[in-house]
Amino acid sequence: MRALLCLALGAALVSTACAQETPKIIDIEPAAERSGELRRAPEFTQEDFDNPKYDNTALEGRDFHMVQGPPLKLHCYGVEKQGGAVMCRTKPNAKVKIGRSDDDFYYETADDRGYLLVGFDRDERRTIVEAEGNRLEYNFTPRDYDTSRIDGLPPSQVSTFTEAQLKRIRNASARKKKGFASRAQELGFTNGFELPIKEEFIKTTNFGAQRILNGEPKKPHYGVDLAAPVGTPIYAPADGIVSLADDELYFEGAMVLLDHGQGLISMYLHVDAITVQEGQAVKQGEQIATVGSKGRSTGPHLCWRLKWRNRNLDPELLTEWPNDDH
Ligand SMILES: [Zn+2]
Repeated sequence: MRALLCLALGAALVSTACAQETPKIIDIEPAAERSGELRRAPEFTQEDFDNPKYDNTALEGRDFHMVQGPPLKLHCYGVEKQGGAVMCRTKPNAKVKIGRSDDDFYYETADDRGYLLVGFDRDERRTIVEAEGNRLEYNFTPRDYDTSRIDGLPPSQVSTFTEAQLKRIRNASARKKKGFASRAQELGFTNGFELPIKEEFIKTTNFGAQRILNGEPKKPHYGVDLAAPVGTPIYAPADGIVSLADDELYFEGAMVLLDHGQGLISMYLHVDAITVQEGQAVKQGEQIATVGSKGRSTGPHLCWRLKWRNRNLDPELLTEWPNDDH
């Protein structure tokens, strides 16, 4: 039990919490609700299929959950909640306004089929999406994230680094930046997202968990921690390009980044063996690494994260991406 709690609390921030005998777990408050409500795609009739003004290529096979409709409007469809994402469909190469308000926005360009992914940050309250004279507005109810409190940590927990460590951290940061800047052209997630571990695992930390160390709120946990034995295979949850495969990272130890297109990048931290190379294209279900405990980790687990541009998304939520088979 202790090992699991250490895992849950230690993965990202409390580097030595589990090496010490003293830290006392005061409280773990599980959030009341966990997963998002899914909106189903509008029903399409045979008539729609036959209508030449619809682009039906995406209706084939498992692509069905992709947004359908007349190409000149704007439709978005997906997991509409904090940490979620929607796939929008509009005119090919349309300029799409995305923002929190009319004073705080920027433009993205839909791809040449008219698709554009829009993600929602952990604490996003409002997002507007506007294209071709159509406007969609999302107002989010705050999600109830877990809270974990640890008291009695020695003050030395606030890390100080040696010159050599700092150099390593800075070098790693440049490599990571490059990995995150990758923008694959192909959409790699049209078949939805699968869990990256197929064997048994224990989920030890949920996305968004708020950590309070010695009474002080710290950065939330932006990943989902899945505890499994060292060597357990990790599989690509969707097609993508390996934009980073690095086992010299100070904090993450060994990390793989997968670029799924349109700014969606999934992250695999603390892995043991990396079984892919940078630049390699991987298919959904292909092995990319094995579970490990490298870097600042207190036990074997996969810290699985997902970023859309600068936003932190909930990878687990995207496994619920609507995926209709009819
Ligand atoms: Zn984690």
